[in-house]
Amino acid sequence: KNIVLEVNHLKQYFPIKTGVLRRTTGRVKAVDDISFEVHEQETFSLVGESGCGKSTTGRTILRLLEPTEGDVFYNGRNLLDYSKRDFRKVRRDLQMIFQDPYSSLNPRMTVKQLLIEPVLTHKLASKKEAEKMVIAIAEKVGLSTEQINRYPHEFSGGQRQRISIARALIVKPKLVILDEAVSALDVSIQAQILNLLIELQKEFKLTYVFISHDLNVVRHVSDRVGVMYLGQMMETAATDTLYERPLHPYTQSLLSAIPSHDPSVKKKRIILKGDVPDPSNPPSGCPFHLRCPKVHDRCKIEKPIFKESEPEHWVACHLYDNEELSLQP
Ligand code: SF4
Ligand code: MG
Repeated sequence: KNIVLEVNHLKQYFPIKTGVLRRTTGRVKAVDDISFEVHEQETFSLVGESGCGKSTTGRTILRLLEPTEGDVFYNGRNLLDYSKRDFRKVRRDLQMIFQDPYSSLNPRMTVKQLLIEPVLTHKLASKKEAEKMVIAIAEKVGLSTEQINRYPHEFSGGQRQRISIARALIVKPKLVILDEAVSALDVSIQAQILNLLIELQKEFKLTYVFISHDLNVVRHVSDRVGVMYLGQMMETAATDTLYERPLHPYTQSLLSAIPSHDPSVKKKRIILKGDVPDPSNPPSGCPFHLRCPKVHDRCKIEKPIFKESEPEHWVACHLYDNEELSLQP
């Protein structure tokens, strides 16, 4: 398996003003030392509750935000080493699709204009050739030649997402980051768009980083999954492994909340105490310790190391620090 993307100890800290008088300078560790790999032509998903740092991770990979620390290797080259100018060239390989297509599509441009623009920006073709590319990609995403002369507001949410997908794919990217790309859509439309994304991935040999809070959707599309909590990676594993045998208590609680399709399977829902802590004031030790049903004394003081507990199955939890304890859960 070729590694397309390697995120190494990535940190994204934002300065904030805290205290009653807003005079104390603090920082929110939106992404706090996360590492993962994405293999060629797979879908790697980042899951977790809102505010856990998934979107910030996606944006930092594409340098929409400059990281505080860490490295992002794309095909073995550190994206952070590129000058702004060279980065623009490689940026064509790396596209992003957002949750709300309406806000990312200029309402004064027709679909055709919206699709031609990136081709011309990246100097991929002449205007005439670009028009042919537009018709071809529109067809791939299920838009008719007649529809491409209309404006974004004339389309439904699902159709608009097809436009965003076409706009991302027309420049022939290698890796696409999808940030809650189907989350705003009705369930039936979600399925159509997900199936379209899966088809396009095969046809264009794409690698996806799929960001979502929806564990059912993630199970359906992913090869591997990473679970984030408070800016940190709690667990990564192959999809089936993660869903069938989650190791981290946080993953276990998330999965216990999805209804089972098989009525003979009786699941016990794990209810967590409290809310996600304030990210500007995270707990000591394990970030999950205030809510963890399996917390022990050590968790309050010592932060668990993210490590490979079983082949290809990484977890950050003291329960797996040694052989004897790993038999417990
Ligand atoms: Fe729970 Fe401790 Fe594991 Fe954190 S390290 S998830 S508190 S058992
Ligand atoms: Mg988000």
